[in-house]
Amino acid sequence: MDLCDIQQIQALLGRHGFRFSKSLGQNFLIESWVPQDIAQASGAGAGTGVLEIGPGIGPLTAELARRAQRVAAVELDRDLLPILAETLADFSNVAVIPGDVMKLDLAALVKEQFSGLTPLVCANLPYNITTPVLTLLLESGLFSSITVMIQKEVAQRICAGPGNKDYGAFSVLCQYYAQAELLFEVPRECFLPAPKVTSAVVRLIPRPAPECVRDQAFFFRVVRGAFGLRRKTLLNALGAAFSLDKETLRGCIQAAGLSPEVRGERLGIPEFARLADAIQAAL
Ligand code: SAM
Repeated sequence: MDLCDIQQIQALLGRHGFRFSKSLGQNFLIESWVPQDIAQASGAGAGTGVLEIGPGIGPLTAELARRAQRVAAVELDRDLLPILAETLADFSNVAVIPGDVMKLDLAALVKEQFSGLTPLVCANLPYNITTPVLTLLLESGLFSSITVMIQKEVAQRICAGPGNKDYGAFSVLCQYYAQAELLFEVPRECFLPAPKVTSAVVRLIPRPAPECVRDQAFFFRVVRGAFGLRRKTLLNALGAAFSLDKETLRGCIQAAGLSPEVRGERLGIPEFARLADAIQAAL
């Protein structure tokens, strides 16, 4: 069957008595070019094992299964399992894994499902868990690339550089772990039901941690502190985040080669790294 044909989808869902769940971020694809282009962009191919999060009724899963050696698709909604058993029946290289991706042992999954393969992620993510799921995937260090469809605004935040209005603590986190690229936009009309916002596909290619960062946990404390009070200067924002008097903090900011008047949104990873070292030395 055509898993993006709206009439066939409605008949399938009706036959199984399926009802959409808003809280599970269920917006299913109804334009076949979208799963085709996402699967193509993911790099799925011979020698790869692809983790998909939230297969829904399986349109992206099928495109991945046509390209990759193996696909493991984790689905939280148990009502979708009998539907997936039907729609993916022709693919012998797909394992549907019931469960919550946030609670799975990803390292064990990769070992069991993708032995000898290059592990990738490809998904049309449930939008309500975009930030925690991407953080989990990046921190895991398990995947060679992560290609996901998410809200366009979040995609722009992930890819924004210093000085851009969309740049924030999540941009720094993503760019610390990976090279991020916004690939293409997907209009609301491509989904059933249509979400309120435009979507976009981003590809994250993980890379080694930046050498300039010496203490990762402290670096991220400084980043969060600097963006915690977004409109404040570094001096005021970090004053609120660390128990350091203004004069000591001013000295740290200057020791890092920065102006106390500058805002966190102007700093890249090397500047944050210098600042973290200076503050840590003063504590
Ligand atoms: N891949 C399908 C498509 O493109 O048409 C469905 C995508 S829909 C945006 C998100 C899917 O993620 C739904 O099937 C939903 O049930 C599932 N989901 C939501 N939260 C999840 C979680 N924590 N773990 C695994 N799957 C989840």
